[in-house]
Amino acid sequence: MTVSGLKHTLFRSCDAIVTCDDARTIYRNSDLLVSGNRVEKIARDIPGDVLPEGTDIIDASGHFIYPGLINTHHHFFQCFVRNNAELDWTKLTVIEWLDRIYPVFCRLDEECFYHSSVVAMGELIKHGCTTAFDHQYNFPRHAGKNIVDRQFEAASLLGMRFHAGRGGNTLPKSQGSTIPDEMRESTDEFISDCARLIDTYHDSDPFSMRQVAIAPCQPVNSYRETFVESIALARDKGVLLHSHVGEGESEVIKQRTGMRTVDWCEDIGFVGEDVWLAHCWELTSEEISKLAQTKTGVSHCPEPVYLVGAEVTPIPEMEAMGVRISLGADGAASNDNSNLMHCIHSAYMLQALVASSRAHPVPDPQRFLHYATRGGADVLRRPDLGVLGVGMAADLFAIDTRKIEFVGTLHDPESLIAKVGIADNVDLTMINGQVVWRDGEFPGIDEMQLAAQAQHHVNRVVYSES
Ligand SMILES: [Zn+2]
Repeated sequence: MTVSGLKHTLFRSCDAIVTCDDARTIYRNSDLLVSGNRVEKIARDIPGDVLPEGTDIIDASGHFIYPGLINTHHHFFQCFVRNNAELDWTKLTVIEWLDRIYPVFCRLDEECFYHSSVVAMGELIKHGCTTAFDHQYNFPRHAGKNIVDRQFEAASLLGMRFHAGRGGNTLPKSQGSTIPDEMRESTDEFISDCARLIDTYHDSDPFSMRQVAIAPCQPVNSYRETFVESIALARDKGVLLHSHVGEGESEVIKQRTGMRTVDWCEDIGFVGEDVWLAHCWELTSEEISKLAQTKTGVSHCPEPVYLVGAEVTPIPEMEAMGVRISLGADGAASNDNSNLMHCIHSAYMLQALVASSRAHPVPDPQRFLHYATRGGADVLRRPDLGVLGVGMAADLFAIDTRKIEFVGTLHDPESLIAKVGIADNVDLTMINGQVVWRDGEFPGIDEMQLAAQAQHHVNRVVYSES
């Protein structure tokens, strides 16, 4: 700290600073100065005598620095059902999978939601993610209504910039939903808790660490009025809207309403700059064009596409039409990890797999980094995030490239993550000017203790051990 109260950090002699700005600037052999929660200066050889008193100097020689990654779709609580042989997507139909997993989801209690959020955000931070959106749609009646409140608590423990999606489901099974009664809420219950969370936590100022989005889980599992009231509340409060669309439900929605899902969303007004939709893998060209025209954003989650064996999301076509694209890890029940860094690589590989059958070329590898940085910032309406530049938020991660796995890759830092992949944890993650992960540790936090506490709740609730 200095007399002004601001903390200053200088990353000295960075081998590369990848900015993801409009010009795709990459600074080589440069310094990056952080003051408070924003980037103050990027230049070569910033003299020591102009640095504010008390500046923390980090030797970043040999390191590549990137803007922090922004995850636009996840279900943190699903970390508790990872690597479960009875929930193997490759051996189950969707209905069989749902029948097996929802009874487990219904058993989760408030402590499970807290600890699974710590686990998911901890893993995200280790892999360079600095802003996390979570779509929390599971509110078992016995677990109470403090679940998102506890997620904000988990985010502040780790220093994560957190956007909470208050999800929910209102339609009973007797009317065609897949949701057990224990997880179902009324529209009034759902809307009033959204309003409470927005009033309590939502901060729309620049550099905000806490935001709330209204996120009814998916059109097949809620009444139309739930979506209509969500739209009214979101636009009244100035918050964003989110849901799952185009993940295999379009024909069901068509039978129910006479319209495929995107048309149904447009019909009720669930499109626009303040809306982004997860998945979108089964969309027609007309539907993609509609998303582009309405400026509706997309969270592309590549890893469930592999697991579920779904149609490969038409990212090249979306890119060609100008759709706002971001990346999401998705819940660990259809991914098994919380690693957005890995998703940059898997998203690129997924498109390469089907390139020869597509009319549009696969976007260049660096585009996939941009989806996970400035693409996420755009979708979450955060002009203060996603780019490393003066005045932008000090959200970044650093990779020490002086290792065997990077030999031969260093001439193109912008494409490195998509083409090569980063298998290890990053060496440092900074969020809002604070170092939250460095050299294998969360500063001031006992990781083994946190992991043991979370595992205790997995054993207690998921595997029903005492
Ligand atoms: Zn999802």
